[in-house]
Amino acid sequence: MIKIKNLHKSYNIGKNSLHVLKGLDIEIKEGELVAIMGSSGSGKSTLLNIIGMLDNHDKGSYELDGVIIKKMNETKAAEYRNKFLGFVFQSFNLINYKNALDNVILPLYYQGISRKVREKKALKYLSDVGLKNWSHHLPNELSGGQKQRVAIARAMVSEPKVLLADEPTGALDSNTSKEVMDLIQKINKAGKTILVVTHEHDISQMCSRIVKLKDGVIVEDKKIKQKKAL
Ligand code: ADP
Ligand code: MG
Repeated sequence: MIKIKNLHKSYNIGKNSLHVLKGLDIEIKEGELVAIMGSSGSGKSTLLNIIGMLDNHDKGSYELDGVIIKKMNETKAAEYRNKFLGFVFQSFNLINYKNALDNVILPLYYQGISRKVREKKALKYLSDVGLKNWSHHLPNELSGGQKQRVAIARAMVSEPKVLLADEPTGALDSNTSKEVMDLIQKINKAGKTILVVTHEHDISQMCSRIVKLKDGVIVEDKKIKQKKAL
């Protein structure tokens, strides 16, 4: 599903350049649930953002579902993102003046689907995350765990090939984190390829593979016996 070879990424800050990813190789197969670990600043989000086409790489190759991803204009990138990728962030990134249902509907606006079908589909995904009865609530009427469920429903509604989650439990207490990971495990069991960035050991154990970043390269990559979240 994902093939990355010799990936390099630097950020330019004024006259200085910060070399963050220094020749990274990784392959991820369809249906894997991968934890990306590493200390703060090790480049986890940078890698996820490149995989998610939110950012470009400088050197090396990146192939997603058989398509070679290169620098492209923003319209094209947005189209690919919508088709291939779902995102979940630590801070949920919901639109706070839209209710749960409208937040989930949003990605479907750009797909030329009728209003009725959009609503039906969004409600199905909201039901899948256990929030059918919360569809008309605004984000500030929801708990952190519920907000993350809405964000997961929103990421799933466009049926992405890959779900990318950057510290999805970073803002949640440990019980709520387990509930969110249980949901992620269920989505993975249904066949979805998922990458979870985390620096929490417990969370990484709920994945089936752990990849560790350090100093811009992968220093460890192992399959593990997955622990059940709940
Ligand atoms: P992690 O997610 O592992 O904490 P990041 O990928 O966010 O790490 O960041 C890796 C390094 O790149 C850090 O030193 C960070 O400060 C730097 N960095 C991240 N994004 C940018 C950016 N847009 N511009 C400049 N430097 C950045
Ligand atoms: Mg990060």
